[in-house]
Amino acid sequence: MNSFIGKTALVTGASRGIGRAIALRLAAQGAALAINYNGSKDRAEAVAEEIRATGGRAVVLQADVADPAAVQAMFARFFECYQRLDILVNNAGITRDALLIGMKQEEFQAVIDTNLAGSYYCMQLAAKKMIHQRSGRIINISSYSGVHGNAGQVNYAASKAGVIGMTKAAARELGGRGITVNAIAPGFIETDMTAALSEKSKQAILSGIPMKRIGAAEEVAAAAVFLAGDDAAYITGQVIAVDGGLSI
Ligand code: NAP
Repeated sequence: MNSFIGKTALVTGASRGIGRAIALRLAAQGAALAINYNGSKDRAEAVAEEIRATGGRAVVLQADVADPAAVQAMFARFFECYQRLDILVNNAGITRDALLIGMKQEEFQAVIDTNLAGSYYCMQLAAKKMIHQRSGRIINISSYSGVHGNAGQVNYAASKAGVIGMTKAAARELGGRGITVNAIAPGFIETDMTAALSEKSKQAILSGIPMKRIGAAEEVAAAAVFLAGDDAAYITGQVIAVDGGLSI
């Protein structure tokens, strides 16, 4: 098992769902955590408490990742707490689903600003520190939708495809500095994000998944922790699907 003792990690959108599962797993393996959230203060505090209760270290950092000034302030606070940044997980994300012909510009822009620009703001500030350290791991949470598209998600698919492009470009830029940059493309994972889907839509999605079940946040966390660890030292610029075979 990878050990992250002595390492620090910043996970965006770690108050709930996949981000929470990644933060808990990194902390369980020894990393000191920063739990970012936007609106769910109590839930973010609960994640930090859960880590501290088992002897781990965690701070909670509020910031809307779509706001570059807020991201800058978050990184400043991060470096008041921790001297180095070993692992950045860009996980914060939103959906504003609508069919193309009815999609409002605000719905398009909000998703691009949070999922794509937010990852860029965080990645840029993390990379500056990691270049000095000559080491680091960046893990960007993309989506099946970003690789294959999904009806009703022109905005979301564009943002997640953008995350993949950004991952590959950054991997090329940063590889020589000891920094790896990879993406994970989850399929259909049980979180608040997918809870709103109707039973009919869920059944339609399930029928296309070879494993015939919805994934758990912990199963995405396992891939993220692998990419963050020493076992993945020579893997960069890749997109790992965690989707029960949906993308086969
Ligand atoms: P979720 O349960 O809805 O949680 C979203 C998280 O992102 C929350 O912690 C939320 O913080 C945070 N967040 C949202 N907007 C933010 C902002 N502007 N600034 C900072 N934090 C923000 O979602 P999830 O299902 O765990 O999804 C996590 C990631 O996986 C997303 O990038 C999503 O696109 C991706 N993904 C999910 C699935 C799936 O099936 N669930 C599939 C493929 C990809 P607050 O609690 O403070 O709002």
